Amino acid sequence: MREEKALFIIFGGTGDLAQRKLYPALFNLYRRGHIQKSFAVIGTARRPWTDEHYREVVADSIRGSVDADFYTEAMVENFADHFYYQSHNVNDTEHYMILKKLAQQLDDEYEIGGNRVFYLAMSPRFFGTIAEHLKTQKLVTDHGYNRVVVEKPFGRDLATATELNQSIEKYFPADSIFRIDHYLGKAMIQNITAIRFGNSIFRNLWNNRYIDNIQITLSESLGVEERAGYYETAGALRDMVQNHILQIVSLLTMNAPVSFNDQDLRQEKISALKSLKVYTPDEVAHNFVRGQYGPGEGVHAYRDEDNIADDSAIETFVAGKLEVENMNFAGVPVYIRTGKRLATKATRIDVIFKKMPTNIFPGVALTNNVLSIDVDPNEEITLYINDKDYDTGFKMKQLPLAYRNQNRDCPEAYEKLLHDLLRGDATNFTHWEEVKYSWQFVDAIRSAWDMETPAFPNYESGSMGPQAADELLARDGKQWFFDPTKTN
Ligand code: NAD
Repeated sequence: MREEKALFIIFGGTGDLAQRKLYPALFNLYRRGHIQKSFAVIGTARRPWTDEHYREVVADSIRGSVDADFYTEAMVENFADHFYYQSHNVNDTEHYMILKKLAQQLDDEYEIGGNRVFYLAMSPRFFGTIAEHLKTQKLVTDHGYNRVVVEKPFGRDLATATELNQSIEKYFPADSIFRIDHYLGKAMIQNITAIRFGNSIFRNLWNNRYIDNIQITLSESLGVEERAGYYETAGALRDMVQNHILQIVSLLTMNAPVSFNDQDLRQEKISALKSLKVYTPDEVAHNFVRGQYGPGEGVHAYRDEDNIADDSAIETFVAGKLEVENMNFAGVPVYIRTGKRLATKATRIDVIFKKMPTNIFPGVALTNNVLSIDVDPNEEITLYINDKDYDTGFKMKQLPLAYRNQNRDCPEAYEKLLHDLLRGDATNFTHWEEVKYSWQFVDAIRSAWDMETPAFPNYESGSMGPQAADELLARDGKQWFFDPTKTN
């Protein structure tokens, strides 16, 4: 096992993301041996914590989220000993000087060799000022790598995203900026390229000659919970479509990369996103549906949640029909939907193949072949075929050929992404050009929507969204293949 050497400086070290995701992910890398002796973490935030308190918080976050079968207390304590806390206000230049001293000291002590990861786990409004100080106060080294990790949201439209990007690229080269979209760390999302480009049956069928339509569902059963402040300024379109959903669309519709490396793969994803038809306001009205949840069994309407405006026009649901204007996918509708307070929590992709050109079986209805990829909560691939009933006579039924991953100890998304980051592999991070084309597509929808006040709420909590989301497909003679409201 190759040991990766790095000093992490986590801005926002006391925050929710750090505690829920980053510390457990780093611990899992540690217990698997990817990081061992030569790593240290400096957590920074405003609170005046001691190293001891910080280590206790880190240890608690691991005890609370990693399966107890996979570690001993001694492992947790040894791991937490690598953590140091530095109280820090990101706007205060002097603090960066203190941080620099501590970073140098830990670099020597742990023999890290100058590799630094600056993880910006805090509000994007601070990214520019942190990047500037890191450079001007010389926290970057000249004898190792210096990588900056940023989280979503990356802007709220193309203009603000461009500004944000420039504010970081002014101080860090483009290839040292790693934009996290944690969906790209999920096993089944990574599996899309494996399925498409590792199997000749799919490679040959993956185009507009054989695919009828593609359906992507990211449904959540929870409501807005603690995120009201942010959500009221974002909504489902910005929160889920611009990043996660369009990333999935690009993986499903891109052309084959020349080779499986970050540059070639991201080049094809960029082209796929560039191929998305950007809609006029009339086309938006025709192809996109927005919704907001009303009350349901034992739950409030969105507008009655804490810290949400009584007349909020923010959408908690989006469905849409996308058109990919490239040779392989022109004419194949890509239907997407995402929302809160839906019937189930699931991330799911259904690739619906065309029906047989003719049916030679008299009186037998043939169904479409479908490849379903369950991303969350189960990791499962199912191929639906037509199969003869094992009976006398000749009847056919739809047969699911399914495989479910049962491994309890698969690396979680953040662990995989942090490991890629340490190895300098940007395949599963979003390139700026991807962000740019995604915003271009989303901005057209947002600006069309902003011209009208929607009639909200328009779907019941616990349903699969407004009826218009079903009509979007019905009008094309299709329906959602994934329907958790139906009991089989
Ligand atoms: P949070 O509010 O829990 O934490 C923010 C951190 O920033 C805290 O440690 C706080 O002390 C620190 N901070 C704030 N102002 C500061 C200042 N002036 N100087 C120094 N430190 C300061 O936020 P979070 O949920 O951890 O999110 C962090 C980032 O990650 C945000 O950009 C968020 O959008 C993104 N993100 C979070 C999640 C998640 O699951 N929490 C998921 C996706 C993206």
